[in-house]
Amino acid sequence: MSIFDAPAYDGHELVTFGKDAATGLRAIIAVHSTTLGPAVGGCRMYPYASEEQALDDVLRLSRGMTYKSALAGLPFGGGKSVIIGDPRQDKSIELMQAMGDFIDSQGGRYVAAEDSGTGVEDIRMMAERTPYVSGMDDNEFGGDPSPSTARGVFLAIRTAVKHRLGEDNLQGLRVSIQGLGHVGYYLAGLLVEAGAHVLGADVNADNLRRAVSDHSIEAVATEDILGAEVDVFAPCAMGAILNEKSIPGLRAGIVAGAANNQLASAVDGASLQDRGILYCPDFLINAGGIIDVHHQRVGSAEASKREHILRIEQTLSQVLVDADNSRRQTNTIAEELARNIIGQAAQSLAA
Ligand code: NAD
Repeated sequence: MSIFDAPAYDGHELVTFGKDAATGLRAIIAVHSTTLGPAVGGCRMYPYASEEQALDDVLRLSRGMTYKSALAGLPFGGGKSVIIGDPRQDKSIELMQAMGDFIDSQGGRYVAAEDSGTGVEDIRMMAERTPYVSGMDDNEFGGDPSPSTARGVFLAIRTAVKHRLGEDNLQGLRVSIQGLGHVGYYLAGLLVEAGAHVLGADVNADNLRRAVSDHSIEAVATEDILGAEVDVFAPCAMGAILNEKSIPGLRAGIVAGAANNQLASAVDGASLQDRGILYCPDFLINAGGIIDVHHQRVGSAEASKREHILRIEQTLSQVLVDADNSRRQTNTIAEELARNIIGQAAQSLAA
């Protein structure tokens, strides 16, 4: 298949490749849309098995950012970047500075934030070369957005439980979390505080220990988390976790988590629906982080940020009701809603 026909390409405005022999940088920046504003999105560092895999990932993530910001009512477009490399072995100050140069060369069309494999320290090194970064304490764009992402996912779980089970609270509800990193850790805390019984798994023993010790969750082996008998499964590790292999083994009535691109393909949304599993679209419910970035950028009061994150509940409710009424997939409805928002903005810009 040609790149232009790949579903993830989806009319991207810009895809650019950066290579720096001196530092070993191999990176891709993808800008899906700038209709609503600059393309703000994370910079991921991952040891991709191939350049094709890196390209597919950056395109899928970038498109997801467009939908996410649109549904969250933010003045941002959608973009993402990836660095091909192992974050545990291949990082250096020079590499991150070279990435900063690469981001700078886009002139502000793309603004980078932290993502899997990168953290505040890396963003600071990039910031030595470009102002187009976010997610730093001493920068106008602010600090770690993960607690806000966790809060949005928590609100979504509450909404989905009310919609599907008719329960007003999470007391006694069983929730499994795959991945207890930045978001999963905070999500576990919020759920336990609300009275839920939380089961968690992580390939990183330290992260698992921290969540068990701080929030008294039940540890589950990584290979057992997908099949755990729960009311809600919250994927908070990596993408494409909902696929033809995993879906038949799920024993949750609701899937609602932070991981980006949870559906391996569009077909998997249909498989979930066929199994009667309520899927809360990731790009709708994990917007708390990008909402946080926006409010830090404009210097809002904490209350405005919290009120904005609360709106995830309303948008999700609308999508769940529409999906019930039309018997269509939740992810299809949420994508349509996002495309309508962008289409209307494009029309007003053209007028
Ligand atoms: P993170 O890297 O801090 O945490 C991910 C955790 O998952 C790590 O502890 C890792 O060890 C664990 N993990 C990886 N593979 C696993 C597996 N097979 N089984 C169990 N655990 C596994 O990342 P994060 O910032 O917490 O983000 C989690 C997900 O949410 C990512 O997909 C990210 O793209 C997405 N997301 C994050 C934010 C944010 O604000 N951080 C916002 C939107 C979306």
